[in-house]
Amino acid sequence: MTKRSVLDIIYPPRCVFCREFLKDGESAVCAECMRELPWTYSRCEVPVANCARCVAPLEYRDNAAQALLRFKFGGRVTYARCFAELVAECLRGHTDMDFDLVTWVPLAPLRYVKRGYSQSKLLASALARELGLPKARLLVKKLDTQKQSGMSGAAARRANVSGAFGPVGKGMRGKKILLVDDVVTTGATLSECALVLRVAGAAKVTAAALCTAHKANRRIGRE
Ligand SMILES: [Zn+2]
Repeated sequence: MTKRSVLDIIYPPRCVFCREFLKDGESAVCAECMRELPWTYSRCEVPVANCARCVAPLEYRDNAAQALLRFKFGGRVTYARCFAELVAECLRGHTDMDFDLVTWVPLAPLRYVKRGYSQSKLLASALARELGLPKARLLVKKLDTQKQSGMSGAAARRANVSGAFGPVGKGMRGKKILLVDDVVTTGATLSECALVLRVAGAAKVTAAALCTAHKANRRIGRE
């Protein structure tokens, strides 16, 4: 029997993904979700321009998508730690782990004010702690672009984010940067952010997200 805090007794912990109560010995994710979630496994790499690599441990569907939506819009900010552990595990398995610092894809100021928090910053902060790296705000969103999720087609998404981000300070100069977002779809946003960082002097940009909706990461047989 694992030692449980008073809080755990009053609010028994639930699985981050399926929300079932956790059993003794389970932490954040239940055994069934560990088996059944839409893991990308060896298909975790997302093709993103301007990035040395981009990886994501989960496909954006089913309970993975639902958990991310609760994190993003439902105030479940405590999910950040669990998500960061999953992203870190994916990075350890599929990248050179050669990063100097962690940064994130910023929200437009208006969206940040409305939501009260930035999910990408929360994920980046938790990931920085998990990896023992410093985090730094290196990007700002200049334009309030249309939501990428409301757009179809890679070209439209690229055009929508072109010129939307700018550099903050000089902290990226000569640095190998881990760039974090919650979900990657066509990779247009991460690619644009990586370009801004490279132009501002970053030596290398590696990107990571919790989920990927990119067609390259779908399992064979799904279209
Ligand atoms: Zn579960």
